[in-house]
Amino acid sequence: MFEQAKKTVEKTPKRAQHYVRLARKLSMHYQVRIPVKYRRMICKGCKKFILPGVNYRVRTRSFREPHLVITCLHCGYHTRILLRKGGRIKRLQKNRN
Ligand SMILES: [Zn+2]
Repeated sequence: MFEQAKKTVEKTPKRAQHYVRLARKLSMHYQVRIPVKYRRMICKGCKKFILPGVNYRVRTRSFREPHLVITCLHCGYHTRILLRKGGRIKRLQKNRN
């Protein structure tokens, strides 16, 4: 579902938003939690599907605690992600710099 949305969002953003709504509905209905890596693709402010370079901005900050700041370009909502655990996020940080 999310993989489909990811592929779709660049070409037809409206259809991708549809997938997100569907996935959220399903997860609530079956009481399953959306995996973290997919939850990051949904803005907490406007609940829209967001992708780096497409409709959100990522900034790295190393002041005190290293973290990513994700800014949704739809509503301007900021999400902070700490970079202390997991290698995946660290690689992401490297790519961004
Ligand atoms: Zn948003």
